Amino acid sequence: MATKHKPGKETVIALDNIHKCFGSVEVLRGVSLEVKAGEVVSIIGPSGSGKTTLLRTINGIETINQGTINVKGITLTSDASSQALNEIHSKVGMVFQSYNLFPHLTILRNITLAPIHVNRVNKKDAEAEALRLLEVVGLREKANNYPSQLSGGQQQRVAIARALAMHPDIMLFDEVTSALDPELVGEVLLVMRKLAEGGMTMILVTHEMKFAEEVADRVIVMDKGVIVEQGPAKEVFAHPKTERTAKFLRRAL
Ligand code: ADP
Repeated sequence: MATKHKPGKETVIALDNIHKCFGSVEVLRGVSLEVKAGEVVSIIGPSGSGKTTLLRTINGIETINQGTINVKGITLTSDASSQALNEIHSKVGMVFQSYNLFPHLTILRNITLAPIHVNRVNKKDAEAEALRLLEVVGLREKANNYPSQLSGGQQQRVAIARALAMHPDIMLFDEVTSALDPELVGEVLLVMRKLAEGGMTMILVTHEMKFAEEVADRVIVMDKGVIVEQGPAKEVFAHPKTERTAKFLRRAL
């Protein structure tokens, strides 16, 4: 059983009435959500309910049509400036289902690329930090290998280290274990669990219900572009308040 950490009091993410359309289709239909420092929030729900889109709005990859996003004091609205988007980007790290490492660069170079070229960290410091992060994800000995020499689980752990190298305040995980062979899922979840226990603020979209139950402080259930329910995982799983959640959980658990 995970040792649950205690989230702080400071609100680091505040979403207020977020709407997002793709063309004429409204995929987020008024989502409001607050996340405290150190909190681990898991978003679950049927495919197409808007989970990924919601994550992508939080780090500014997707712009919104209506509502307000506040992340660590930076505010995004529908007419967000590119400066605000960049600022949010630097505070929020994101890891995707497809790890997207650069195949022609070593693991070390994959991790130091953005710190050196975006954050202007000098090479020596960036490499020292990358090696420290590789230690954290248990891959120190792979620093000079290329991505193709690593398993999917190892590549995903590198992708997590790469995101952490930018020193984000918040980490978003979008179905990061979905593309992995089942035997490789555990090693990635272990790294995420360690991060959570270290106090990182995290929002994860996941199908790993057991992981959500053990690690997340709160589970959010989305359906058709809205949050239909939220609460501690145990409570939501055992006593879903809506039929929509119950139906989803019958299939997922
Ligand atoms: P989930 O993560 O819950 O599966 P998504 O956020 O990926 O849901 O998708 C929500 C809806 O938005 C889906 O109907 C999807 O097809 C649509 N959608 C997502 N991204 C785009 C896009 N870039 N262009 C058009 N439609 C999109």
